[in-house]
Amino acid sequence: MNLPREQLITRHEKVATSTSFEKKGDERSLMGTNDLLTNFAHSNENLSNNFLTKQSPLSMNIEQLTAKLGGKGRSLAAWDCYRIGLDPFFFHDPLFSQEALDNSIHMLPISNHDNDNNKIQGIINTRTELQNYFPSKRRNLRLALKSLESLSNLYSSPLRGIENSIAKLVKIQTSKDGTTKLLLNLYSSPAHNIETVIIPWEERGSSTLCVSSQVGCRQGCTFCATGRMGKLLDLTTDEILIQLYYANKLCRIRNLPTVDNIVFMGMGEPTDNMQSVASAVNLMVEKNCFSISPSKITVSTVGPNPDVFRKLTKVPAVLAWSIHAVRDSLRKELVPTTKYTMEELREGMVNCLKVRPKKMRTLMLEVALIQNVNDSEREALELATFSLKLIELVGDMKLTVNLIPFNEVEHNRFQKPSVARILAFQKVLRDKGLMAYVRRTRGDDEHAACGQLATAKKKGITRLP
Ligand code: SF4
Repeated sequence: MNLPREQLITRHEKVATSTSFEKKGDERSLMGTNDLLTNFAHSNENLSNNFLTKQSPLSMNIEQLTAKLGGKGRSLAAWDCYRIGLDPFFFHDPLFSQEALDNSIHMLPISNHDNDNNKIQGIINTRTELQNYFPSKRRNLRLALKSLESLSNLYSSPLRGIENSIAKLVKIQTSKDGTTKLLLNLYSSPAHNIETVIIPWEERGSSTLCVSSQVGCRQGCTFCATGRMGKLLDLTTDEILIQLYYANKLCRIRNLPTVDNIVFMGMGEPTDNMQSVASAVNLMVEKNCFSISPSKITVSTVGPNPDVFRKLTKVPAVLAWSIHAVRDSLRKELVPTTKYTMEELREGMVNCLKVRPKKMRTLMLEVALIQNVNDSEREALELATFSLKLIELVGDMKLTVNLIPFNEVEHNRFQKPSVARILAFQKVLRDKGLMAYVRRTRGDDEHAACGQLATAKKKGITRLP
């Protein structure tokens, strides 16, 4: 049971009218109200039998949403909003105030502990300005009240709305280099948070989003903060996509470069949650949904067994294999859950790549380089031999090796190698004719870099039914 529209509007207007903005130069502070909407949503879970668990419109493709709303134009109009991090239910109803549309960011408390970037909450777009983000032929399209009612019935929260149904944005942390970590609290499991990281590339005019597929991870890689948490939850398709929704909203409000590159390298092993990940990727690439090119989405797996590569065959994304070491004994040390030899795993990957469409026969081998563990010439030569054999077995393919200097994590015995050792490792690979790149570490001062994502583990945690 959702709240009647009148009651809902009254609650939203209560927020809007109790809100005042105090401008201090570039700094905009929100004064005078608590987040009534989300507090209300948390405290009224009993208002709906299936609150928080049903599939939201965010994880419906155009065809599915068209069937629910009774018209393709309606589903396209709804997705024009989701794509830019805007809830169509509130955007298309003129009774909702302008300020309420992007409240999740404008109303977020500003922490004194964050650096200067966080003092800027961002601009408030008018409805007319927001329309300019839509395709020109749909700019004047309006969802009528009847369609909005149909849409609202798809939301699981009594307050309706994507942001009240899937996850609440609770914190934004920005590193000195602009890397921005978003902390989202799950409505389905309020004891759990997920992290997602926006990495802006001003020089390229685009941003990369690092998404999580699970809370925690059962693979337990010894150098990884997430691995220490164990697996706590598999995220639903909605919970994966809401990360992109909020990232797009933040980029729009703070005028950051648009997200056009997604990497599944946040918390979790994507192949341990294959169904949700595959559905999310399909909606990311769908033309009228998030519309991101398959060549700009990377699904990274540690490769728990040869069969997971088969499951990735049809996923419309670039594959990355977090290999870390080729020698079985060393790999077992770094990825202790490994039960297969590297030869067995390579066979699985070869079989996967061979049946992929030619333009998707691309593989990135990822190596977290750790000082005096896997960064010597010996490991570089082993990796080169392994990679060249893989290329030979697949035939026509593109392989690159990404060297990621280890990001230091609290209570971890490992260290980042020196620049000289990293470059020497790269040279060995390049001398063997391989494409090998050293990846720049971004966001490490805010623990937003590879291997550093870990949210607080709380006791007595269960997902709501
Ligand atoms: S590195 Fe990836 S697979 Fe390994 S524990 Fe961390 S999140 Fe899991």
